[in-house]
Amino acid sequence: MIFKKFIDKLLEKRYRVILAMAFLLLIVTVAIISRKSEVEFPSLPFSLGVREIALTFDDGPSPGSTPKLLEVLKKEGIKATFFVVGKMVEKYPFLLKEICKEGHEVGNHTYDHSDLTKLSKEYIIEELDRTRILIKEITGKDTYLFRPPGGRYDNKVIVATTLTGYKMILWTDYPVDYGCPSSELIYERAVSKVEDEGIILLHNGVDSALEALPKIVSKLKKERYRFVTISELIEGRGERNSGYFEKFEKKQEVKPPLEMVVNE
Ligand SMILES: [Zn+2]
Repeated sequence: MIFKKFIDKLLEKRYRVILAMAFLLLIVTVAIISRKSEVEFPSLPFSLGVREIALTFDDGPSPGSTPKLLEVLKKEGIKATFFVVGKMVEKYPFLLKEICKEGHEVGNHTYDHSDLTKLSKEYIIEELDRTRILIKEITGKDTYLFRPPGGRYDNKVIVATTLTGYKMILWTDYPVDYGCPSSELIYERAVSKVEDEGIILLHNGVDSALEALPKIVSKLKKERYRFVTISELIEGRGERNSGYFEKFEKKQEVKPPLEMVVNE
């Protein structure tokens, strides 16, 4: 009875104002305490300053170089992305399996490693599809990543890439390993152009690039770079098909056409 009376009083107009004010005061107090707590929490140093970089290797797989490259990556405990050539995959399927087994990502680098700007749109699509089927048959995985040989592309290539559902991936850092310059020079060029969310292009099959790799990795680890695959770089932001990729594409640098480094 007393309780009912108390409730009735509370619901009276004048008490409703007091209730509302008390509620408001409670919210303000909680907000102040939370804000104060935030300030007093120590920052998390391990999450600060971490940058991401993707290492990519073109033109494999090749029995003379892919196993050595995989060994170095394993020793360093990092994952990379391999843009493989279809005709090499056909010849050395066990190497592609090995790349996947080690947890690296695989991208399409066409079947013949031809200059795509010299081909018809239909032929470009065939180059992409042929390699896509091979990759799928051997690894059981599909890929949506594509890098045109030599970085050469035109409107036909862009249309063919879109029609086949690929993302064209170029690079932001190419230390020009073609022609086997010294490993020291490759190292200097690679680290001088490195940037957060960048993509380094090296070739699977260049001995001096392989020699430079542990030094490049060690330097970048010291600079708090985390090595990621291309998908991780893109999908990490959950924006694979949105604005981020446009920004990402603009950041990519197209150097003068590269020579072919496919070693059979
Ligand atoms: Zn290539």
